[in-house]
Amino acid sequence: MSRYIATRAIRGANALVTEAEFMLERAIAEKGAETPISFPNTAYYLPTIYALIGIPVETLGQLKDVIKHARELLHPSPAKKHWTPYLGETLDSGMATLFAAETIEAIRFIYNLQPERKPGFTLAGGTAYPALGDQGGYLNGPIDDIRLRSWGISLVDGRMPGFAAIVGCAKSNEVAVKIVRELQKRNILTFLCGNVNGRSIIDQLQEEGVELGYDTYTVPFGTDTISAIYPLGFAARSALTFGGMKPGMAQDILLYNKERVFAFVLALGEVDDLKYAAAAGAINFGFPVIADTVIPEILPTGVTTYEHVVSMPFDKIDGVDDLERAERLIQKCIEVRGVKIKMTEVPIPVSYGSAFEGEVVRKADLRVEFGGKHSRCYEYLYTAPLEEVVDGKVDVVGPDFSAIPAQGNMSVGVVIKVAGRSMQTDFEPVLERQIHYFVNGASGIQHVGQRDIAWIRISKAAADKGFSLSDIGKILHARFHADFGAIVDKVQVTVYTDPVEFEKWLETARGTYDFRNKRLADLTDDKVEEFYSCTLCQSFAPNHVCVVSPQRLGLCGAYNWLDCKASFNINPTGPNQPIKLGKSIDFKKGYWSGTNDYAAMGSHGVVNEVSMYSIMENPMTACGCFECIVMLIPEANGVMIVSREDTSMTPAGMTFSTLAGIAGGGLQTPGVMGVGKFYLISPKFISADGGFKRVVWMSSVLKETMADEFATVANREGDPDLIEKIADERSAGTVDELLAWLEAHQHPAMIMEPMF
Ligand code: SF4
Ligand code: ZN
Repeated sequence: MSRYIATRAIRGANALVTEAEFMLERAIAEKGAETPISFPNTAYYLPTIYALIGIPVETLGQLKDVIKHARELLHPSPAKKHWTPYLGETLDSGMATLFAAETIEAIRFIYNLQPERKPGFTLAGGTAYPALGDQGGYLNGPIDDIRLRSWGISLVDGRMPGFAAIVGCAKSNEVAVKIVRELQKRNILTFLCGNVNGRSIIDQLQEEGVELGYDTYTVPFGTDTISAIYPLGFAARSALTFGGMKPGMAQDILLYNKERVFAFVLALGEVDDLKYAAAAGAINFGFPVIADTVIPEILPTGVTTYEHVVSMPFDKIDGVDDLERAERLIQKCIEVRGVKIKMTEVPIPVSYGSAFEGEVVRKADLRVEFGGKHSRCYEYLYTAPLEEVVDGKVDVVGPDFSAIPAQGNMSVGVVIKVAGRSMQTDFEPVLERQIHYFVNGASGIQHVGQRDIAWIRISKAAADKGFSLSDIGKILHARFHADFGAIVDKVQVTVYTDPVEFEKWLETARGTYDFRNKRLADLTDDKVEEFYSCTLCQSFAPNHVCVVSPQRLGLCGAYNWLDCKASFNINPTGPNQPIKLGKSIDFKKGYWSGTNDYAAMGSHGVVNEVSMYSIMENPMTACGCFECIVMLIPEANGVMIVSREDTSMTPAGMTFSTLAGIAGGGLQTPGVMGVGKFYLISPKFISADGGFKRVVWMSSVLKETMADEFATVANREGDPDLIEKIADERSAGTVDELLAWLEAHQHPAMIMEPMF
């Protein structure tokens, strides 16, 4: 290996550990060793330290051991060494660097440094934390656990092929944008950090108006090198969350990352000592480093799958312009890490990929919109016989938008005709719901809503590149084939702007929406012969099974009975299997021989019976993705419902994140249950225990966002004022306050029979 890299990484590591020691000493002197210390929005303490050393750091004082450990790594003593097949000292220096970097970031949080972010800095999703002035600092903070889970599922099932940690500054703003677009196009998560002479790729992207944040798969961690600790903390948490590793299993965690997490580091611009040290940290995880400058390479494989360090000097990429160079650089990264890209070619004039789904088209950038306040947009998908569908045909009936003035609007109807030997009319709404994601994947196009309240906005940039109405059809054709090829053989799209045809099809569509509503209302648990399992989350909660029935959707809210049915047809050996109900054992509580048998098998014997409709007796288990937690409040003879969005204290004396620890993990805990929020409005919601009238407390965000649905439930329960009788975090933060509220509002739970 290169002696040069070793020397510089060791030098960088020494400097950073010394800085961390100094900062820690000062912080302890100023604040006290008992001062609590943590990263926001994560239950994994300081994640790299927790995962690799196994210390759950909660106070400043505990960091002393961490830094001691880091210091020892700088003077290799065989017993303390991490996994070092042959890169020896460099790798250990890398580990020391990570522990020191995380220590420094954590100390920065307790000093609560004030924002010095560029004016107008916003994030598309995610939380922005104070940034440190000229030292760089943190912009995003660690990725929160909720995001870790949702991204984790995509990483596990391959929708997201991997992540890139970019450190430094690109040759020009243009190149910076191109690099990020190339990554977004491939759905690769992009983490941004570092600078070169004070200038960061984050600055470059902001100057070019690139939207950064969770929703666009681009997370700006900070403009200093230290913030590169966050991508590695994310990787360490992935191994704990999805790989079932225990804290302290350093070698297994690093190997898991090498084998399962397809990440790489892209160093843009000059590489200084600290960057070498941080890069050495990343190599421990099996993440190779690709630099766009001249640096010595480490080619033999071992710790990484292919090369460890690759130099691809930007200006020496021959015979092409800078944009092409940027593209080749990204291709090189993908090759070196062996990232497997599953890309659907969508033949449209703008970039396409899930990373663009979160993009917003602002008023100033708007070319034209369909739907919204001043026009209507609908989308309607229906099944036709095979011979009546011409696959790939896209027609626009009526004028396009060229005559519409800038920022104007027009009414558009998108009608999709599909055919397939395995297609069933039951799948139509499932497929129709995908239009939102599919259309949103085009860069510069924003899609909101569904059915006859859809709303599509097209940016000037997209229109300038030639995006037209027929491109909507091309997107849908490509994506339905790619994602639903198992049930759809032919896809034909017609876009209607001609007023007469528009109205005609709108009427047809509305007739079908109505029919589907009735069908859905009719689709009750007693009308079907099978429920479905979902074991998608077993990748990280190995014994958890969601049993999904027409009246009880999966606890993450993403899978209802129809979704599972469609998923089973697309992938018959996949995570959603039909559960034949068999003999009804107790219809009130929701026991069938089939569901019990499946629960026992799916949970590998951990759970032997599951009640579909009770929280008190054999309630369904939970993985960790639940939208809400339902929990018994014994004193109130009822339950509270806490939403994931609610961070306040509940009458149970715990916040959502503490409760989540009790509810999750795939175990049955009577009195506690994680649920999807649409289960709350189902007539089968804890129906064995008295149903919705048992709800005595509910996060206000639920009351607000589901007001219409709850009004219907209140009427169904014969108590139109029921929702006003339910307390929330604004009216009751303790059991005593809750009881007083229930008394004052004459909540029905007060006179219902005892819950247990
Ligand atoms: Fe996970 Fe259940 Fe959602 Fe399936 S339905 S993805 S198992 S939470
Ligand atoms: Zn889950």
